[in-house]
Amino acid sequence: MGLHGQEQQHFLLVSYPAQGHINPVRHIAVRLASVTGACVTVSTAVSGHRILFPSAAGPDQEVNDGAVSYIPFSDGYDDGFKEGVDDSSRYASQIVINGSRTLSAILDRLEARGRRVTCVLYTLLLPWAVDVAHQHGIRSALYWIQPATVFACYYHYFHGYDKLITTHAEDRVPVVSLPDLPPLRIRDLPTFLTATSEDHYSKSILDNFRAVFDKLDQEDDGRRPMVLMNTFDSLEGDVLRPIKDKMEVFAIGPVVPKEIPTGSDLFKQDEKDYMKWLDTKPARSVVYVSFGSLSAVKRPQIEEIILGLKESGRPYLWVLRNDCREEGLELEEGDDGMVVSWCNQLQVLSHASVGCFVTHCGWNSTLETLTCGVPTVGVPQWSDQRTNAWLMDEILGMGVRAEVNEEGVLPAAELRRCLEVVMGEGEGGEGIRKKVEMWKEKAREAVGEGSSSERNLWAFLGEISARCN
Ligand code: UDP
Repeated sequence: MGLHGQEQQHFLLVSYPAQGHINPVRHIAVRLASVTGACVTVSTAVSGHRILFPSAAGPDQEVNDGAVSYIPFSDGYDDGFKEGVDDSSRYASQIVINGSRTLSAILDRLEARGRRVTCVLYTLLLPWAVDVAHQHGIRSALYWIQPATVFACYYHYFHGYDKLITTHAEDRVPVVSLPDLPPLRIRDLPTFLTATSEDHYSKSILDNFRAVFDKLDQEDDGRRPMVLMNTFDSLEGDVLRPIKDKMEVFAIGPVVPKEIPTGSDLFKQDEKDYMKWLDTKPARSVVYVSFGSLSAVKRPQIEEIILGLKESGRPYLWVLRNDCREEGLELEEGDDGMVVSWCNQLQVLSHASVGCFVTHCGWNSTLETLTCGVPTVGVPQWSDQRTNAWLMDEILGMGVRAEVNEEGVLPAAELRRCLEVVMGEGEGGEGIRKKVEMWKEKAREAVGEGSSSERNLWAFLGEISARCN
């Protein structure tokens, strides 16, 4: 028996091997185990598993960190997908074939060991995991790791609004109206919804989202499909109102760990002691810059950022991943600037000297900065980041969205201007910092004992238990 007298559940969380997917999966896994007493196993692709657990007995061996077990599935690319070498459309078909086969074997193995999985929780880009679960007679639920607003945009696109969005994007009509959402400009919508028909890569990702929403449309023994969402009740208004009679949605965020995690990431920590360097800076003086784990930051953008940061005269800590560094690139650092290849972002955002986050607006970064109370300059790159930047700037008021030029590059002068707005003494900055404090408090309230997200997590558990009987 688990807590609250229900049967103990065993959740298997399946994650794509990307940092922005693995982080919210690991953190919700810990929360599910510690709050509800459930048994939790996380499965990502072998390539990711090997990097996360380099000292495991065997490279594909099960690992248990005390709260959560990790067992990898194979996407057929156990040495990792090689950008520029491997073909992304072949990867898309291989992960379905190999992933289905090896995930199925994991479910069999766990059952044979007396650890039968009772619910498969799958994240973005993995619709095939639903079929595997159902072949084993196991319930499944989607774990949506982007905002509810983005979920609503996709939902409406796949339920009758595709033509409206596509024609508006082509005709450059700037604003679309979707049910129960404030008017959104084309530039605020997820990039995959507005990509041109020649953009085959975006189209293939959109097809993957379509497959996920198709699965959600299929009834589960006459019951509404379940979606866990990394957002919280008071954050985005009732944007899912028209969808809620079709699905059971449980807002259980912000899924940001209470304790700063010290385990490994898919990227190696920079050896520079950036935390010690932050200690030497005055409160709220440092600009932290990072565009996440996937966005390719190209040379023209790098040069504008260097110039903008230097001209702003504020100390800065900048994450420029190794794969974005071309040969011959000069990243001259002085007392007032540090460039690292990867850092512990949550630790950095929690440091008192950090006064602004120049971010690509990945949803994890957005929730982390909100939870830590750091105002933002948004420079969205692709996917949901444009909608997240809109939320951050126009709905939550916790920062500004920077304007980019025709090449999509943020010019130095614009970066300087935005930093002045957010960190300066003007009215704008003061208003932003007040909002940031308010959201920090609301985020704290959303996850404590008896909070809305905890109640929703229990409601989800109750629903799973009812469906398993
Ligand atoms: N991150 C980190 N160190 C870095 C850069 C990023 O720990 O130097 C983490 C960050 O805290 C976040 C994740 O990587 O949890 C990135 O996810 P996000 O959704 O923000 O963006 P993505 O990388 O998916 O574009």
